Amino acid sequence: MRKSLSKLPLVGTNIFTKMSGLAAEVGAINIAQGFPDFACNPELIALVDQAMKGGFNQYAPMPGLLKLREGIAEKTFELYRREYDPGTEITVMPGATAGIYSAIQALVQPGEEVIVLEPCYDSYIPSIILAGAVPVRYKMKFPGYAIDWEEVRRLINSRTRMMVINTPHNPTGNILTREDMLALQSLVRDTDLLVLSDEVYEHIVFDGEKHWSVSAFPELAERSIMVASFGKTYHATGWRVGYVLAPAEMTAEIRKVYQFIAFSASTPVQHALAAFLNKKEAYLQLNLFFEKKRDRFREMISGSRFSLLPSRGSYFQCATYERITDEGDAELAIRLTHEYKVATIPVSAFYQDHTDHRVLRFCFGKKDETLEKAAEILCKI
Ligand code: GLN
Repeated sequence: MRKSLSKLPLVGTNIFTKMSGLAAEVGAINIAQGFPDFACNPELIALVDQAMKGGFNQYAPMPGLLKLREGIAEKTFELYRREYDPGTEITVMPGATAGIYSAIQALVQPGEEVIVLEPCYDSYIPSIILAGAVPVRYKMKFPGYAIDWEEVRRLINSRTRMMVINTPHNPTGNILTREDMLALQSLVRDTDLLVLSDEVYEHIVFDGEKHWSVSAFPELAERSIMVASFGKTYHATGWRVGYVLAPAEMTAEIRKVYQFIAFSASTPVQHALAAFLNKKEAYLQLNLFFEKKRDRFREMISGSRFSLLPSRGSYFQCATYERITDEGDAELAIRLTHEYKVATIPVSAFYQDHTDHRVLRFCFGKKDETLEKAAEILCKI
């Protein structure tokens, strides 16, 4: 009998690749995959150009350019009051996904359990499985996606090694409150649990609310790995630069793994980001920029037959559609792309049991013109 080739038999091509591919194929408007369709800051492009022409085209140091890591340390301290040592606690990587993967491979042993809160970003569970570990799923409560931390506590046992959290949350647009973080803090106290915190949308929190980072809670920060992104913040997701903050002991382990995954991130882009990081308004005003888009998009589709869920952060808006059809969301997303030429993301893709979900995710991180066209279509469905 032939051995199976697959280490991920239950995983196919991911939903973003699938829906963006289908959108391009049929000429549909893409409010599916989360990336801006508008230009990033020309100054940033000029800085990359300058770095390339200045000869910075060879490998960056494995943990990232020191001046970029120093800038990250300063920014993190200003925002969350935690000091991370650029030498031993900050690692720049080609994208947050590589950070998440490296952290899980480095810190979770085969047979250990990792708690994820579903719906969860599609890379977490495969990363856990590839570490030989076991994903333990907690379903957040629809429609508010609230977390009952006492119920989460019951999932913890002697094999539990890590919990993955994500705020602002993809796909739901929910955020964790200070109370959530305090509940998490008391939950993990007196355990060996590590917290992997995906905060790539940290600068996109709406309605005057604050982003509560694991790094802002000293007791949590000690056992946490925070993953952040430059791509999301500077509208340059294709440049693939993110970073990982973690106490030195954990960072040492994460770097051991990461050096054999990608070794380093783009050198000219790191030079550009290091020079641009002092332009604080670029990230401090990002929430208002996207809040306008959220409000406008919600208003434009308020007359449609979709029912909008709250969007408190990220650039995602979820909706249910019980007034339209009882199809599953995966089926519906494909049909709408073909028939109405609008591509969206089915939220079922963020659950391991892909069945019986009826929520679509729209990305409003797009040009106003794209949003107008998309809204016009959505109102006809
Ligand atoms: N984070 C993006 C999204 O949620 C997609 C990233 C990717 O395509 N891997 O749409």
